[in-house]
Amino acid sequence: MPEPSGPPSGPPLHPPLQSPLAARDHGLVWHPYAPLDGPAPYAVEGASGVRLTLTAPDGTRHDAVDAMASWWCAVHGYRNPVLDAVAHEQVDRFSHVMFGGLTHEPAVRLAERLTSLAPGPMAHVFYADSGSVSVEVALKLSLQYQAAQGRPRRQRFLTVRGGYHGDTFAAMSVCDPVDGMHSAFPGALARQVFAPRPPAARLVTTATGEEHWETDRSALDAWASEVRTLATTHGDELAAVVVEPILQGAGGMHVYHPDCLRVLREVADEHGLLLVVDEIATGFGRTGRLFASEWADVTPDVMCVGKALTGGYLSLAAVLMTREVGEAITRSAFRALLHGPTFMANPLACAVANASVELVEATWKDDVPRVGRLLREHLEPALSLPHVADVRTLGAVGVVQLTSPVDVPAVTRAALGRGVWVRPFRDLVYTMPPYVCTDQDVRLIAEGVVGAVAEVHG
Ligand SMILES: *Cc1c(COP(=O)(O)O)cnc(C)c1O
Repeated sequence: MPEPSGPPSGPPLHPPLQSPLAARDHGLVWHPYAPLDGPAPYAVEGASGVRLTLTAPDGTRHDAVDAMASWWCAVHGYRNPVLDAVAHEQVDRFSHVMFGGLTHEPAVRLAERLTSLAPGPMAHVFYADSGSVSVEVALKLSLQYQAAQGRPRRQRFLTVRGGYHGDTFAAMSVCDPVDGMHSAFPGALARQVFAPRPPAARLVTTATGEEHWETDRSALDAWASEVRTLATTHGDELAAVVVEPILQGAGGMHVYHPDCLRVLREVADEHGLLLVVDEIATGFGRTGRLFASEWADVTPDVMCVGKALTGGYLSLAAVLMTREVGEAITRSAFRALLHGPTFMANPLACAVANASVELVEATWKDDVPRVGRLLREHLEPALSLPHVADVRTLGAVGVVQLTSPVDVPAVTRAALGRGVWVRPFRDLVYTMPPYVCTDQDVRLIAEGVVGAVAEVHG
C-alpha cells in the first residue's frame, strides 16, 4: 500500500545547503549507488577542456581538472571543438531515427571503422545504448550461438572473480559475487561459474623504455589449472567465457598478466565456448594498447565497447563479433539476434563516435604513454605514505591503493582543494585522465591525489 503523503516531518535530510542546485537536488534525485540523504552532490556550472567548474555543497567554487574523465569516457575533454562541430552538424541533419528497417551514414561508417580497428577478424556490429546493455546482448547472443550449434543446454557463463560488467541483471550475474550486488538480489540472478581473480601483475618499464610483465608465475600456474578444472567440470553447461581483458576496472582497478587471457582463450577453444571480452573500460587506448586484448595477442569472438566510444558525449555501446558467430546465428531458427533497443544506433551518438574514434586513432599513441609516464613518476611518492598499500599504473591509468577504505568525502574535498576532481571507491584513489591533459595537468592530478591521501589518511 502506498504511504500517505503529507508535509515532511522530522529533521531535514541534511543541514541547509549553500549551493542552490544541490539543495533542489538533495532528497529528490537519486545518484549512483547513493542514498537520498547521502552527501550532497557538487553542482557542475561548466566544463571545458579538462576542467570542471563546480560549486560545492557549502557554496564554495572550484575549478578542477577532471581526473576521472567522467567515469573514463571524456578522453578528448569537454567542449572539444571537433566533437562539438560534428554534433551540431548531425543535429542539423537529424538527431534520431529508428533503426528497424532504416539505416544511416553515421551507423554504417562507425561499423566499418570499428571492425577495421578491432583485434582479430570482427565482421559484424550490433549497437546498444549503454555498456550494460551491450553486455546483455553479448550474453544473449552467446546463448543463441550455442543453441544454433545444437547445444541449447549451454546457458551459463565462466568468468573470474573481481569483475564488473554493468548493472542490468545478466551483466550483474557475471560481476564479482561478493563485491557486486549478488547479496542484494538473492535468487534473482543466474548462478554463473566463477574462477578466482587472476593473480596481480605489473607492466615494468625499464630506464631505456622497454616493457615487460612481471607476476608470480607459480600463482599464475595454479590459477590456470583451477580455470581448466572448472571448465572441464562445467563444460557442458557453459556458453561463453566473459572477462575484462588485462585490467579489471570498477571491480578493483586490478591488473593481470596477458598469459591469463591466453589461458581463457585456450579454455574457450577446448570446450567450444565463445570468448567475450568486455573492452568497455579498456578500449580505445586506455591501457596502452588500442584494445587491451592486444597485450595478449588474443582475438576474441565477441567484444563489447562503450564508455570512451563517443568521447563522453552521448551514451552508446557496440557489440562486435566474428563472421562465424554471425553465421551461426543467421543459420539458427530465429535467424536474428533477438534484441532491438529504441535508441539503437542513435545517429547523433554514432556521428560523434566516428569523430571521437578518429581522434583516438590520431592521438592515443602519443598521449597515452605520455600521460602514463607522468602518472608513474608523480604518483610514486605515495608509496612512502604509511597507509598506502600499492601504487600501480598501466597506460593512462594510475591507482593508489590504501591499506583501508578511503574516506571518500574527505579525500574528494582535499583533492578539490588542490584543483583535482576524483571519485575514490573502496580502498582506491585512482585516475583515468582525459588524453588531452597537458603535462602540467597530469602532474597536478598526481600531486593532488598524493597530497589528498597524505592530508586525509596520513
Ligand atoms: C562501465 C562498464 C560497464 C557498464 O557500462 P554502462 O554504460 O555503465 O552500462 C560494463 N563493463 C565494464 C568493464 C565497465 O567498465
